[in-house]
Amino acid sequence: MVSGNVSLVAPPLIEPFDDVSAPLRDDWRRSLAEAVRDPGELLSRLGITAISHQPPAVSRQFPLLVPDSFLRRMQPGDLNDPLLRQVLPLATEDEAVPGFTADALEEATFRKTPGLLHKYAGRALLVLTGACAVHCRYCFRRHYPYSQEPKRLDDWEPAFAALEQDESIHEVLLSGGDPLMLTDERLAAVVRRLESIKHLRRLRWHTRLPIVLPNRITWEWLDLLTSSRLTPIVVVHANHPRELVGDCAAALRRLTQAGVLTLNQAVLLRGINDSADVLVELSERLIELGIRPYYLHQLDRVAGTAHFEVSAEVGRRLMVELRERLPGYAVPQYVQEVPGVAFKVPLA
Ligand SMILES: *Cc1c(COP(=O)(O)O)cnc(C)c1O
Ligand code: SF4
Repeated sequence: MVSGNVSLVAPPLIEPFDDVSAPLRDDWRRSLAEAVRDPGELLSRLGITAISHQPPAVSRQFPLLVPDSFLRRMQPGDLNDPLLRQVLPLATEDEAVPGFTADALEEATFRKTPGLLHKYAGRALLVLTGACAVHCRYCFRRHYPYSQEPKRLDDWEPAFAALEQDESIHEVLLSGGDPLMLTDERLAAVVRRLESIKHLRRLRWHTRLPIVLPNRITWEWLDLLTSSRLTPIVVVHANHPRELVGDCAAALRRLTQAGVLTLNQAVLLRGINDSADVLVELSERLIELGIRPYYLHQLDRVAGTAHFEVSAEVGRRLMVELRERLPGYAVPQYVQEVPGVAFKVPLA
């Protein structure tokens, strides 16, 4: 140990958090209740007042929703801010574009019981809720029939029973919507029930809440993950490096420092992250936070999202540049969901 000579002391690998205090159990529910739901309010908070914003008709079913934490990471005055563009409803969403349909993934075919999708070997996906803390305009789940999914824990029993019957399943993915919209108490009940199914080994959480509502990363939830017999894996969803700052970075560090394997998936989005500089910086930031870039998804061709599409040709060129500029472990897999294929199909 070198002492007395400050210049020989290596800088800490992990910088001290801005915010070391544990979020209180119910902080996130208040943040969610206070999320911005009105486009006019969002734009005026960003000092963007010169435009007249016409919300698309589809935003009646899938309205604007953005928590304050995410809003505070946007650049005031910039209508093209990459975080703003992910959440601001635009009139172009109403345009019908050939090839962009309501159930692009034909997921209905793989619904084993209400709330259970079994598409890939060894893994099954539980849709725990249709709710999210943010409404991403490119979302492939915007037309999903969530109202048909179970609501109370008892309603899940058919899904749990189906998992119990199929010994080939080793991993359950909790998805939605966003599974972290459920309270820690309800999640604990789900985890306990899944732990009782002997052939299950891993529990994977697909959630965007660490990014958009960072105070959702409570110690209670981290305890639930790290005390379970099921190995936890968390897949977060950030598309741009500017999402990974401040309270979000602090929350992600709580997660990775708890020893939870954490991965990121992003969607390749026109005008948001379709540049090598942005994607390189996204990977660099993720690695700094202890998170592995996992997938870069080609946009699913869902009605209302055509204006976000980047051609696979452009995507492939970006991937070449990522490979030239990043260590191999920081390069995500560029993939596409193809109906009827039992894995995410690599595009490059
Ligand atoms: C994407 C997906 C999975 C997980 O696939 P991985 O390649 O293991 O990440 C599982 N089930 C469904 C229905 C999916 O869409
Ligand atoms: S958080 Fe995920 S599921 Fe929810 S709207 Fe965004 S992309 Fe869709």
